[in-house]
Amino acid sequence: MELVGQMDVAVITKVYPSRSHSGAAQGGVAAALGNVDGDSVEAHIYDTVKGADYLGDQDAIEILCNDAPRTIYEMEHLGCPFSRTEDHKINQRAFGGHSFLRACFSADRTGHALLHTLVEQTYKQGGKLKVYSEWHMNRLIVEDGVCRGVVAMDIKTGRLEVFRAKAVLFASGGYGQAFKITSNAAANTGDGIVAAYRAGIPLQDMEFVQFHPTGLYQHGILLTEGARGEGGYLINADGDRFMSTYAPSKMELGPRDIVSRSEQTEINEGRGAGPNKEYVLLDLRHLGKEKIMERLPQVYNLAKDFIGVDCIEDPVPIQPTAHYSMGGIPADNDCQVYLDDKGQQVTGFFVAGECSCISVHGANRLGTNSLLEALVFGRRAGKKMLDVTPGLKLADVNEERELEAAKKEIATLYAGDGSEDLSVIREELKEIMTYKVGVYRCADDMLQARSEIKGLRERFAKVQVKDPGTNFNLNLIDALELSNMLEYSELIVSGGLAREESRGAHFRTDFPTRDDQNWMHHTMAFRTEDGGHELRYKPVTVTRFQPEERKY
Ligand SMILES: Cc1cc2nc3c(=O)[nH]c(=O)nc-3n(C[C@H](O)[C@H](O)[C@H](O)COP(=O)(O)OP(=O)(O)OC[C@H]3O[C@@H](n4cnc5c(N)ncnc54)[C@H](O)[C@@H]3O)c2cc1C
Repeated sequence: MELVGQMDVAVITKVYPSRSHSGAAQGGVAAALGNVDGDSVEAHIYDTVKGADYLGDQDAIEILCNDAPRTIYEMEHLGCPFSRTEDHKINQRAFGGHSFLRACFSADRTGHALLHTLVEQTYKQGGKLKVYSEWHMNRLIVEDGVCRGVVAMDIKTGRLEVFRAKAVLFASGGYGQAFKITSNAAANTGDGIVAAYRAGIPLQDMEFVQFHPTGLYQHGILLTEGARGEGGYLINADGDRFMSTYAPSKMELGPRDIVSRSEQTEINEGRGAGPNKEYVLLDLRHLGKEKIMERLPQVYNLAKDFIGVDCIEDPVPIQPTAHYSMGGIPADNDCQVYLDDKGQQVTGFFVAGECSCISVHGANRLGTNSLLEALVFGRRAGKKMLDVTPGLKLADVNEERELEAAKKEIATLYAGDGSEDLSVIREELKEIMTYKVGVYRCADDMLQARSEIKGLRERFAKVQVKDPGTNFNLNLIDALELSNMLEYSELIVSGGLAREESRGAHFRTDFPTRDDQNWMHHTMAFRTEDGGHELRYKPVTVTRFQPEERKY
């Protein structure tokens, strides 16, 4: 490894870096740049707090929104090609839950533009920054409250290695793959979250999973909210713009939790379109060909390629799709990870982006705040690591023991009697999560889900990885990922069952209102020695906005 400044830095990623899910982000990245009349950082903070249904930590939200304009200009100066207004300013479009045009964008490929800019900058460092592409991180090494590195496997050869480090940053993304209808990339299997959890770190607010209103029917593939930001309508089978019933002031640009529930209600009450009334429609026809092709070319292509609908001529069948993981690894505003619910921290362990729960999104993330979070807090984590690492020593690691533990985990996946099939268990899990722990939840469904997932975990022990090879053994990776998905899905269900209220993306038909008296708390799930878990709670940080009724 070479030096970055005084540091040896390695980037480990199981996909090629530019194929990370960030590259799929479409609609934009939020910032109150000061170019839009009436907008301000203050308004961005308020919208985010309200969007989060008051479960976000307001000190962290203030940092996020204050640092947004600087972040956008920095990315622009690094080479990100943002779309422009006629007078050459960075253009901004409307997005759900934001009171002003605040989403900076590169057509509908914003994540692609940002990610490629950063990947290029990484490679520009020459050999100074070593990228371990297609290496799978299997274990996080934490001992006596000190993070000491990770164990990772070279996917090309199957070789396991210990990477010792004074400081480790996880930016390992979300956990949306546990759902059948999902917008998430195949890689979003919560590996980092589960590795931290298995190393003794609690996970926060896992029950909060965002469902995005415009997933392509049956595929879950995302059609950006930018489509509604550009003026697209949502209609039911009768052609009614049904959002007038649910969010009359914001209509289609209500926050995602409310719009997704409204769609599901239309479908559940028989006003859905199609032969089985299973979907609603995204109508872009009135925008016209020119605007669609200029601003929403990807939406056009996705609808055409995957379900053969030409959105210039016809409305597009859509349904809510699991999209974003609000829960994750708890950390302070400099991204240093918490070891408990009292504020004790792990030395040398940092998190940023979707795997973290800092918590800027609380119970419901506003669109375009997530790319922003990854940029703002990724940078803060990096700076903090630069500050603290010179004072840390490279902690001892019993490498042999760590490698043995990783090998043993892999051996277990070969030891099953083969009477159960990995892909069958994965599909069953996804069905359970989508249909019993989805947009609408209730105790009966979640209790069933809990016992079914327990059954799946027992059956998983009988699965046998069939591929004995060492080179690109994707069968083994699938098994490692499914083991993670089963483990964190239990926490989504447990947190959801315990939380007897409706807040943000977590809506319980048996407890349909928000309960600030009892539930202005973050859930913290701790792994117990027997592989089970225990839930504890910690209060939300409120700085300037007291909870009020959330209306749009
Ligand atoms: C379709 C879609 C559209 C979106 N659109 C927007 C948008 O317009 N605006 C917005 O703000 N947000 C959007 N989001 C959300 C946003 O894109 C993500 O939350 C954000 O990009 C996550 O970035 P990240 O760096 O945390 O994780 P990711 O970009 O998911 O990267 C995770 C990295 O971790 C690596 N990794 C994971 N597990 C392992 C392992 N075991 N070993 C080694 N490496 C591992 C992966 O290889 C990958 O490189 C969208 C999300 C989706 C799914």
